Amino acid sequence: MTMFARRVETFGTTIFTEINVLAQQYNALNLGQGKPDFDTPADIVAELVRAAQSGQHNQYAPGPGIASLRHAVAEHAARFYGLDIDPDRGVIVTAGATEGLLSCMLGLVNPGDEVIVIEPFYDSYVPNILMAGGTPVFVPLHPPTWTFDPDELRAAFSARTRVLILNSPHNPTGRVFTREELSLIAELCIEHNVIVINDEVYEHLTLGGSSYLPIATLPGMFERTVTVSSSGKTFSATGWKIGWAYGHPAVLDGVARAHQFTIFAVHHPSQEAVAYALRQPDSYYQEFQAMYEAKKRLLMSSLEGSGLSYRAPEGTYFIMADFSPVFDGMPRDFTHHLIKEIGVACIPPESMYSQEHVHIGRNYVRFSFCKSDEALLQAKPLLARLAR
Ligand code: PMP
Ligand code: GLN
Repeated sequence: MTMFARRVETFGTTIFTEINVLAQQYNALNLGQGKPDFDTPADIVAELVRAAQSGQHNQYAPGPGIASLRHAVAEHAARFYGLDIDPDRGVIVTAGATEGLLSCMLGLVNPGDEVIVIEPFYDSYVPNILMAGGTPVFVPLHPPTWTFDPDELRAAFSARTRVLILNSPHNPTGRVFTREELSLIAELCIEHNVIVINDEVYEHLTLGGSSYLPIATLPGMFERTVTVSSSGKTFSATGWKIGWAYGHPAVLDGVARAHQFTIFAVHHPSQEAVAYALRQPDSYYQEFQAMYEAKKRLLMSSLEGSGLSYRAPEGTYFIMADFSPVFDGMPRDFTHHLIKEIGVACIPPESMYSQEHVHIGRNYVRFSFCKSDEALLQAKPLLARLAR
């Protein structure tokens, strides 16, 4: 018999775990979880080793994060976005973006508050809102363009709305929200006195000439935005779980209070290495983007001839593909078919939707291209079998 609290009674096994187990069981090529199958740059790993061996960094780090990483986060936000962040009171180092997002919810949302969530959503958002006692209110993106309806967005705001959670570049759709879309979100948040939690973990993964605009840079938004990011994607180091939250000290204060009592302090040697990594020259970030531009093209070429239809993503390392031309059923059924009969794993989006809107994504599954070129090429003959 299991014994659990009511607040976790609706939480199942994450879809990433479920698909990894199935992919392994059937020895399928895993294009599911957004987990690189290649290593972190060697110089960044060397910094971690150096930090651990120095004898200086193996005990508790300061709770808000080491000064050198907090300064590196502020310098990075100034370099790429022109933001002026206070490294002492405006940055908190977190255990990945995941803990950053939870600390945001626990520190900013009161029981009974409403939180607007754009669908499909990253799978931890809703459990985080529920753990904070909040109520999610959903605004869907509509395929195939994955844009929101301005009237549906407007209608989601009420006197009880406290937070809107935004993710751009967007997992799983690959959208990068435009200035026009962000301006409407900003206008409504200002009008209704709502805080934005902006998840920008894919900030350096913009593709096909699109460019990422942080909502905190729009007029009137810095004071009401907490931005969450992480080193996982940008430095291909998802296993390190070093993230951060930054913003105006007044809005970050609640997050800092929650962070103290969720984790207190984060892995110390990795913080030293990420401080080094964030200070990489612009060429690092350009090469990173070029690498993913090439990987995107490889996956697109492997999807050609599969019968699945898709649009080139504007950002992230994901492609949403419409399987309805080749399969009749729900995304989870298609995923099982793909793993067992074709030998390729992907992610079905059901757990990224509320019950009321799950039909909107019913023709789609997500493929990841944070994989070796060999794996992306290997997918081509396998996926071609779908069309037959
Ligand atoms: N937000 C989004 C949109 C993500 O895709 C991920 C990645 N896994 C996270 C947050 C979590 O990031 P981290 O691994 O740094 O906790
Ligand atoms: N962010 C990754 C994805 O969307 C995986 C994160 C996880 O496994 N929780 O695939």
